[in-house]
Amino acid sequence: MRITKFARVLIGIASLFVTDVFFVDTCLVARVRPSWRQPRCACCGKIAPGYDRRPARRWVHLGVGALRILLEYAPCRVHCPDCGVHIEKVPWARRDSRFTIDFEDMAAYLAQITNKTEVAAILGIAWATVGNIIERVVAGKLDPERLADLKRIGIDEFSYRRRHRYITIVVDHDKQRIVWAGEGNSANTLDTFFAEIGEDAAAKLEIATIDMAGGYIKSLEKNAPNVQIVFDRFHVQKLASDAVDQVRRDMVRQYREGDDPDAAKTIKRSRFVLLKNRWDLSPKEWDRLAAIQEHNAPLYRAYLLKESLAAVFEETRASSAKRELARWLKWASRSKLKPFVRVARTIRQHKERILAYIETRLTNGITEGFNSKLRMIARRAFGFHSAGALIGMLFLCCGGLTIDPPLPGPWCPW
Ligand SMILES: [Zn+2]
Repeated sequence: MRITKFARVLIGIASLFVTDVFFVDTCLVARVRPSWRQPRCACCGKIAPGYDRRPARRWVHLGVGALRILLEYAPCRVHCPDCGVHIEKVPWARRDSRFTIDFEDMAAYLAQITNKTEVAAILGIAWATVGNIIERVVAGKLDPERLADLKRIGIDEFSYRRRHRYITIVVDHDKQRIVWAGEGNSANTLDTFFAEIGEDAAAKLEIATIDMAGGYIKSLEKNAPNVQIVFDRFHVQKLASDAVDQVRRDMVRQYREGDDPDAAKTIKRSRFVLLKNRWDLSPKEWDRLAAIQEHNAPLYRAYLLKESLAAVFEETRASSAKRELARWLKWASRSKLKPFVRVARTIRQHKERILAYIETRLTNGITEGFNSKLRMIARRAFGFHSAGALIGMLFLCCGGLTIDPPLPGPWCPW
């Protein structure tokens, strides 16, 4: 077997020929050329006349053991009638990449399943480089149809880097997958989404579930005026939970000022009991709750308000939910608990969109469900320094993409 043929088998890419093989330090360099005869445009892939030849460059390919394999080729530029003068397409690499497709797919595959230290060590490249690779791989694999025919979507923000930066995530409720993500959490961010899907697709949207953040509403009202906005019930309930906590903190302060450190301490420790779901409480926690009921009536009232708001969302009929919410609002406004008076004001403002949950039963639960995975991804993507790479990781790990790196087949014992 000739050494060039051997190298071709070793490289394992069908559509190239090896013309020469040599070593540079610890790297095996294979001089290659595409197996097709006429050069093709890297933009559109069509055959195009050559323009000029560029100096030789090298692409990093998957190594064998500790041996690195590099492919070397002097590409030409083509004059494409559609795209202009461009570098030619090569069958072993994606456009503008110095890594082979096999190498990039392996990097993406490893990033899906393991942590950044391992990926960087196995492949011998910096983690930041892995970020760029993932962006390219994801761009090539994303289903272009994912933004067509959207009917019911969920919009949510995700904060990373200690809550200083945000990305906005759009999910398709019907297909249960992430379909879009962009940097930021403002109306402008969501405008970018609408610009991408186009006016026709926006007109077909029926329902959007969102948290009560102002930015998204503005963009929805502008870009999809017919869409029914549904406020995510868990974000609404969180308003009540936050209000309970505020009442608790106010009481701790009052007790401290009134020189009753013991009472302050007891209440300070009750946070978890007050915010937990009723049915998750242990017998000991029930006792603490009972103690609050006995000694701290306002705090117990706050607790009941929080629980009753949750109960409104458990109603199955729109009419009864509406009635219950009206009663709740009256109660909260007269509760003499300032945080709840404020919550009642907010809820009254958005009553219709909050009650829309009862009929649609849609929440941002999917994105919330992705949350722990997102946290892990954000930690891994920390070294990427760009939202683009984080979004790439997001699609890679939660977007239902299939990555097929070249892996050895099952072991044959012979
Ligand atoms: Zn072209």
